[in-house]
Amino acid sequence: MHEHSTLFIDGTWASSRGSERIEVFSAATEEKLGSFPEAGPADIDAAVAAARAALRAPEWRDLSREERSQLMHRFADVLESRAAERAQTVSQQNGMPIAIASFAEGDGVVALLRYYADLVTTVELEEERTRLDGTGTTLVQRTPVGVVAAIAPWNFPAVLAMFKLAPILASGSTVVFKPSPETTLDSYLLAEAALEAGLPAGVLNIVPGGAETGKHLVSHPGVDKVAFTGSTRAGRQIGAVCGELLRPVTLELGGKSAGIILEDAPVEETVAGLATASLLNTGQTCYMSTRILAPQSRYGEFVEAITAMASSLPVGDPLDPGTFVGPVVSRTQRERVLGYIDAGRSEGARITTGGGVPQDRDRGWFVEPTVFADVDNRSTIAREEIFGPVLSVIPYADEEEAVALANDSEYGLGGTVWTADRDRGLGVARRVETGSFGVNRFDLDWGAPFGGVKSSGIGRELGPEGLEAYFSLKSIFLGT
Ligand code: NAD
Repeated sequence: MHEHSTLFIDGTWASSRGSERIEVFSAATEEKLGSFPEAGPADIDAAVAAARAALRAPEWRDLSREERSQLMHRFADVLESRAAERAQTVSQQNGMPIAIASFAEGDGVVALLRYYADLVTTVELEEERTRLDGTGTTLVQRTPVGVVAAIAPWNFPAVLAMFKLAPILASGSTVVFKPSPETTLDSYLLAEAALEAGLPAGVLNIVPGGAETGKHLVSHPGVDKVAFTGSTRAGRQIGAVCGELLRPVTLELGGKSAGIILEDAPVEETVAGLATASLLNTGQTCYMSTRILAPQSRYGEFVEAITAMASSLPVGDPLDPGTFVGPVVSRTQRERVLGYIDAGRSEGARITTGGGVPQDRDRGWFVEPTVFADVDNRSTIAREEIFGPVLSVIPYADEEEAVALANDSEYGLGGTVWTADRDRGLGVARRVETGSFGVNRFDLDWGAPFGGVKSSGIGRELGPEGLEAYFSLKSIFLGT
């Protein structure tokens, strides 16, 4: 049982100034896993003050790029030594299949931190340019953006936190991090690693809590930038607050991406690829290709193959390495997903497999992998993000229509095309309005920018662009 009585603020374990506690439950067994104090306004004030002080503290501010890089590698060493424990803790909380948790939440966190630790040694922090008018030089400086409020969702809690923390640390900024209440236990492992690695006090502070804690943090006068990953609904609220405050903000939000199967696509490879591209982490991944567009000429064949794939995926204990589909994160989330399945039925789509709760599971928040055929792109299940193991297969007449349907969405985050002809696939990729897209695959490249267009967000994480987001630019016009 993980019972925590303190919060990680200013490099020490501080007693919470609030009185509320939050409990965490196992998605697979519904048993209590632990609890922690909710950070109240006074805790957030203390965390932001510590992060502000750390910005100016010589032991952080005066580190060279190389020293900062070494410190980040030390942090990565400690995180690496506890990768398996972190993966297991995440998996127990949100039901993520352990094979995915080991890769993303265990090893991925470490790899990402090392990537930015190396990258920062190559960044030009001061660049002297010849003035355009030829009368001397200008010094262009990259300075840390300042105190960052970082907020993460529960679906990939540790690695999505690191999408932000790694470039924040590399830039020399400091951070107040708010994890999701469903997945806060792993953030205590992060704090322990920061302490062991010798991160200076106040560089990383953690304020656990729900939406109210998040709101207080986002609007706090001591925050210089907000980095948020979560739902479009919360992203709009945060964007509105940051707009009013003229506070820079990065928003990584929801998606409803299209998986376009072209007429020439080989059925076996396509459907095997779609299993991961549409159902990774039980469909609780933001960039999933959950609107599968299949050509009318081969519609029956693909519906049958997708149905067979979905119904054969191993559903079960997330800690079993053979499991592909675990439970969804919470009872509330299961109700949401089942509500969408009802909406699909009542709007006339045809269920070809799944459609409810697995009969052999009397505990845990499981939903059967579910496939809807004959789905209209205007229906609720084709327009709204379900965030569960539910796929819609939509017929199309020709490539033109497929691209138009892919683009006929409020969102633009991911997407895929499946074809025997890579160049033709690339042609389709170029026409889809989205922040990322895969030709016969979809897995993120951490060296390339990731983010959304339309209601899927503003700004980019990952790659050198993800580091640039945490620098402020200053031009110094040099006289004689
Ligand atoms: P959510 O928006 O409910 O919560 C996300 C985080 O924001 C949590 O920590 C929550 O406590 C906090 N929060 C909620 N309302 C807030 C507010 N008004 N002000 C400040 N903080 C607030 O999302 P969720 O249900 O935890 O996560 C699932 C969503 O995240 C999905 O929509 C998914 O697509 C999205 N997501 C996006 C990406 C991406 O990179 N684009 C990645 C993963 C998940």
